Amino acid sequence: MTTKSTNITWHGADVTQEERQNILGQKGAVVWLTGLSASGKSTIARRAEQLLLERGVTVYVLDGDNIRFGLNKDLGFSPADRTENIRRIGEVAKLFADACTITLTAFISPYRADRDRVREIMPAGTFVECYVNASVELCEQRDPKGLYKKARAGQIPEFTGISAPYEAPAAAELELVTGDLSVDQAAMAIIDYLVKNGFIKA
Ligand code: ADP
Repeated sequence: MTTKSTNITWHGADVTQEERQNILGQKGAVVWLTGLSASGKSTIARRAEQLLLERGVTVYVLDGDNIRFGLNKDLGFSPADRTENIRRIGEVAKLFADACTITLTAFISPYRADRDRVREIMPAGTFVECYVNASVELCEQRDPKGLYKKARAGQIPEFTGISAPYEAPAAAELELVTGDLSVDQAAMAIIDYLVKNGFIKA
């Protein structure tokens, strides 16, 4: 998207990123959960959020439907709208991470190019792509919101995994196979990654 405004200048903070990190005792990251509907993104993100808060980490979850109620309520599910949805979320997540918040995002984000664009705008190493991997069959069995049932009945057009594509990550930093891992194990895998890579203290 091109910038429409002219005569605008980016203002950095007076405090450096390093000073901010030292004061807050953590580094910002975007843990980008991607996967089919019902693969477990929200459940794992919420659990990880809770565990991180209990450790005193500043963390926030950006979640699919919530963003569509507000920031992105003008967007639908066409390929162009999905791309714009992810672009805006990426920009918001980047601001959160710049504020040193561990930012967990839970969006299907089916297109590899859209996820790669978010990776590109983030400082190197701070975009943690996390593939929440579950088969369509398993997701359909779970179907917590009844969406697969509706999609099979033709009531939801462009439903990822049924009538719209999902492009799995080629080289995600993390892969959580939710048919094999419990919610707690998956959440802990995220926390372990954040500790090992120096974003939060052990
Ligand atoms: P998404 O955000 O990917 O659409 P949700 O988290 O809303 O998925 O739904 C996943 C469903 O699968 C929930 O009902 C959750 O309780 C269930 N579930 C079962 N096992 C797991 C697991 N290991 N990890 C995550 N969710 C699981």
